[in-house]
Formats: sequence, structure tokens, C-alpha cells
Amino acid sequence: MSSPNVFQRASAADLPVAVKGDGIAILTADGRRIIDACGGAAVSCLGHSDRAVTDAIKAQLDQLPYAHTGFFTSEPAERLAAMLVERAPEGIGRVYFVSGGSEAAEASIKLVRQYFLEKGEDRYRIIARRQSYHGNTLGALAAGGNEWRRRQFAPLLTEATSHIAPCHYWRFAEPGESPEDYGRRVADELEAEILRVGPETVAAFMAEPVVGATMGAVPAVPGYFACIREICDKYGVLLILDEVMCGMGRTGHLFACEADGVRPDIVLIAKGLGAGYQPIGAMLVNETIHQAIATGSGAFQHGHTYMGHPTACAAGVAVLTAMEERDLLANVNAMGERLRSGLEARLGQHPNVGDIRGRGLFLGIELVADRDTRAVLDPKAKTHARIKSAAFARDVMCYPMGGTIDGVHGDHVLLAPPFIVTPGDVDEIADRIAAAVNDVLPAAA
Ligand code: PMP
Repeated sequence: MSSPNVFQRASAADLPVAVKGDGIAILTADGRRIIDACGGAAVSCLGHSDRAVTDAIKAQLDQLPYAHTGFFTSEPAERLAAMLVERAPEGIGRVYFVSGGSEAAEASIKLVRQYFLEKGEDRYRIIARRQSYHGNTLGALAAGGNEWRRRQFAPLLTEATSHIAPCHYWRFAEPGESPEDYGRRVADELEAEILRVGPETVAAFMAEPVVGATMGAVPAVPGYFACIREICDKYGVLLILDEVMCGMGRTGHLFACEADGVRPDIVLIAKGLGAGYQPIGAMLVNETIHQAIATGSGAFQHGHTYMGHPTACAAGVAVLTAMEERDLLANVNAMGERLRSGLEARLGQHPNVGDIRGRGLFLGIELVADRDTRAVLDPKAKTHARIKSAAFARDVMCYPMGGTIDGVHGDHVLLAPPFIVTPGDVDEIADRIAAAVNDVLPAAA
């Protein structure tokens, strides 16, 4: 039977019907309880049935569901903005609410353009990294460096974007190269690219502190972002950190960049901000950028109907409050360690598991043909997708991705369970994921 509803695929008819949230799991119409070990796409940080959040949303709906930002602000929008600024990296002074990650990336591309115009500089270029993902709308897609996603839309993508190497030490370091030397070498590509396209044209560099969907929870090597910051400062280029996936506590810090000790000019957040209870994202902006616009033309020339949506902001306040009242970042760190070591114990010696990595409850498992040589699997085998299916058959979700980075195939699954997982949950997840890997890639073969 064909369903009129389409998601990414041609029809949603073959998908199980989700009917109820149950803590870290989703219950289906046919009676399954599926553990959400990837938070959907690293979204559901509080699980699927958090009463504090749903009660806050219901109360806001009763009070004021929506008011257009052309006329009003609202109590939840003011409160959430204040909470975020108070906790944000140094220098961040303003918040611009949107409805998701792509909108946040899109807004940042336009904001940096307007900022430089206000300063009398005709800068517009965005440099990002190959294999990155910053969203599916045209500006964000152009900034992203994921060839597979870009290919068929290439004629529509602005040429004001260009790409340098990602920072992926395990896969791309030269034999014997130290993490420091590797980080410096790939960061230096930014300087070379700025010089190639003309420093007077470059507005910003955009990167994820921990690369999520496209690479499978790959943090930069220590020192990489310090080099990036130095190069940005040398050429007056702004640094946009995309924390849509890795932010809001996912890595064990509220902002992932805290661990890298880097000061961004703009931070993009989304997924964990609403935790799936409401669609919301935000662009957090350095006060200097804001002031240039406030004292210049007076307003950022950009806006969406649902920006600063009171109900979505109320959800954001409730999520952040829940995270802090329940000290969930401590649990992210403790359970992240437990999950990583659980996976190491079960899969660390598996001949097809090349790397288990990540930070906090944001972990990736890289699949290879040979763990010693790191030879890649046949891309046509779509091993990541088969592991997703095998895991789903075992009632656990993981987020799969395969892709080519600089001519080298990558195959991984991503784990990003809710921050509320218990030691028992984590052990269950490690058991089922290891079993799914062995279903697809039997260790004895
Ligand atoms: N940036 C990053 C790093 C992401 O992971 C995503 C979503 N996977 C986006 C941007 C786009 O977010 P959205 O799907 O909410 O538009």
C-alpha cells in the first residue's frame, strides 16, 4: 500500500508507526519498544516522555501559543535568550531564534555579509570544510562540503563558498605525524585558501567542533581550533561554529567548543535546544557584530514567520532547566565513558571496527575492511545502512552514514543516546549494537 506521506524516501508506507514516547525508547503501533540510541539525529537529549517539558509546553499553549516578532517579544523568548547568553562562550551577547539548524546556518551566512557591509567591507565568502554538513537549504548546502548532498543541486549553489580539508587525524594523518603537526597542517589550509580567494573577500570560516553526521563524531585534534582562530584573526575573518548537532550538552560540555578552548564569533545550535519537543534553533552572536548592525542600519535584514516562537522557546527553557536541575552533563560524561568502554570491550578487537571515538554521549564507530591496514569497505555494500537495519531489527536505533572524504570511503554509525540513560541502558545499547555489527560483519569470517 502506498502512503500519501513522503519523508526522505518515496513513501512512508514501510516505516513502523511511532505511537508513544517511553523514556529512552519509542513504542510502535505493532507493539515494539525501540531504544533510541542516536536521539533520532542527536536530537532527543531528554528522551521521549519528559513531563517537565511537556507540561511547560502545555502551560505556554494555554497562556500564549504564538505572537509575531514584528509586533511582540514574549516572556519565554526573553528568558531563553538570557539563559543562553549567560552560559555561552565569552563575547556572545545576542541570540537570534530560528526553527532549526539549516535556518541557523542560513541566517549566519547572511549576518556576516551584512556585518561587513555595515563596516564598509565588501566581504561575502564563506570557507568551510570538505565532507561537512551545515543544512539542506541552498545557502547552508553551499557552505557544506558534502559532495553527495551537493551534486545534483550544484547549479543552484553559490560559488561564494569553498572548502578546505577536514580535521580527521585517524584517517588522514601521515605516518608518524603528531596530532599537533597534523592539526597545524590542515589548519594552514585555511590561510592558503584565504590567500587564494583574496582576504578582502572572506567573511567567515564555518566548522563543526565535533563533526557529526558526515564523519561520525570526529573531534578536532588539540590545538587545531587555536590555529584556526589565529588565522581568522590575522585576516579579520569571523569564526562560525556549527554546534547544531554537537552542542547543548551532547559532548559533556554545554557548548562543544569549550573543550577546544576556542572563542567563536557565532555559534549555531538547534537539535538539543528543543530536544525534539519543539522545532527550534538559534544563532548566538558576538556583541561586536550585533553592535555594528544595531548602530549601523539598525536591523538584520532577515526573518522568518516562526522565529522566536513562544511555545518553542518555552520548550527550550524547560529543556535547559531540566538539564541543569538534574545535573545531566555529569551523566553525559559518566555514561559516555561507560558506553565507549562498553563498545571497546565488545567491538575493540573486531576485525572490521577501525575506530571508536567521540566525546560525551556522541560516539562514532568506524567500519573498515581491515582494522590493521584501515582499508575501506566496498562503498556499494552500504555497510553503515545494513548495520542500521540490523540494529533496528534488534529494537535499537543508530544513525548511519557513508561517504567519500578526499577520495577515501568512510563508513560509520553514530550513537547519541538521551542524556538520561542509566548504566543498565548503556550496557543494553552496547550489547545490541555489538550484536548488530556482528550480524552484518561476523567477526569469525
Ligand atoms: N548543521 C549540522 C551540523 C547538522 O548536523 C544539521 C542536521 N543534521 C544541520 C546543520 C541542519 O539542521 P536541520 O536539519 O535542523 O535543518
